[in-house]
Amino acid sequence: MQTQACQALDRAHHLHPFTDFKALGEEGSRVITHARGVYIHDSDGHRILDGMAGLWCVNLGYGRRELVEAATAQLEQLPYYNTFFKTTHPPVARLAEKLCDLAPSHINHVFFTGSGSEANDTVLRMVRRYWSLEGKPEKQWIIGRENGYHGSTVAGMSLGGMAPMHDQGGPCVPGITHIRQPYWFGEGRLGEGHDPSPEAFGRACAEALEAKILELGEDKVAAFIAEPVQGAGGAIMPPASYWPAVKAVLARYDILLVADEVICGFGRLGEWFGSQHFDLEPDLMPIAKGLSSGYLPIGGVLVGDRVAETLIEEGGEFFHGFTYSGHPTCAAVALKNLELLEAEGIVERVREDLGPYLAERWSELGEHPIVGEARSLGLMGALELVADKATGERFDKSLAAGSLCRDICFATGLVMRSVGDTMIIAPPLVITRDEIDELVHLARQALDETARRLAE
Ligand code: PLP
Repeated sequence: MQTQACQALDRAHHLHPFTDFKALGEEGSRVITHARGVYIHDSDGHRILDGMAGLWCVNLGYGRRELVEAATAQLEQLPYYNTFFKTTHPPVARLAEKLCDLAPSHINHVFFTGSGSEANDTVLRMVRRYWSLEGKPEKQWIIGRENGYHGSTVAGMSLGGMAPMHDQGGPCVPGITHIRQPYWFGEGRLGEGHDPSPEAFGRACAEALEAKILELGEDKVAAFIAEPVQGAGGAIMPPASYWPAVKAVLARYDILLVADEVICGFGRLGEWFGSQHFDLEPDLMPIAKGLSSGYLPIGGVLVGDRVAETLIEEGGEFFHGFTYSGHPTCAAVALKNLELLEAEGIVERVREDLGPYLAERWSELGEHPIVGEARSLGLMGALELVADKATGERFDKSLAAGSLCRDICFATGLVMRSVGDTMIIAPPLVITRDEIDELVHLARQALDETARRLAE
């Protein structure tokens, strides 16, 4: 199909997610036709390095025949059956075992969903059910973080702290509130009246959690939900002091920890789960995305023993589930994906080789005149665009520097995402050192061109 014909159909009938419908109608969509390795290709013949692994999900890269074969074999054997009412099938049972093998030792159960958003809806219901089964129904509040992202369903967006989402579509789920994010570059270094070191800032963010708990009532808080590293909020890597201090606060008030692993899971930070990098012991871990490398939609909640035992022993029937909970074909593909990540030593390679190499090359971009900070962890990186390198002052919002840089990147062959004026990358975990060099080269070129156009 020709580019323009495809764009015309799309414009006439397709309402895109996270898109200004009217602006898209005027500009027309980019038409992506195929992909291999770390590259996507468009209908005009361009090859583009996918610095975002789709939406942080194509961990194993594009075009893996083994995943196609796993899907085909399962489609022939048993394309679909549900897991409601005491039925199961081999792919879901095997996937459950594999996930619990890979997860920290206190996690031995999983509840399957079709997406990360559904996983977080499940979290909300599970957490409240847990406390009511424990005889503490007053523990209802869930604390999330400003700019956290936990999905687009009503529960997912309520747990998340994205103000523009809260402002659209009616009231959020009651009993959820948010605290500040541990965003050193954006908020910490600019703060006044406290020791301006990242470590002091990390502790101050944990103190904000404690203050919120005391404000709500120390026996009223059920859970704290956070991504180990905030992804969609801007690849926000917390200061080293943050997680130990948060853990201590949660233990003090007996509050469950929900670590949203939808982005950080399956190797992104060089461990199977981001929680392991920060030495967390979450009670619940929502997962999705890299679980199947995005080849088919599947998510779930990994449930720690404390919660699982109560749900199993005391709970009776849990009136919750999705038609596609544990979908056999999605489960077969996810299982094969995990087997390949393991057999090819990809998680270790991110930890020991690619992550450190990206850190070295990415930090060179920190020298660029419009970059205030370059940070990375594993295969996730961010650049903070600034108008004044010495003071870290941002560009005027009306210039939309981040969107400009993103569009220049795309036009020159790199997918880099912008969150305001923070540029983000999270490439497939199979990227090579040479491809990292190419990514850094394309990013530098785009920064030069962005600087040039902003100066016009
Ligand atoms: N949680 C996190 C941390 C995410 O980044 C996302 C999606 O980007 C979600 C949940 C929602 O997942 P999904 O889009 O599969 O519903």
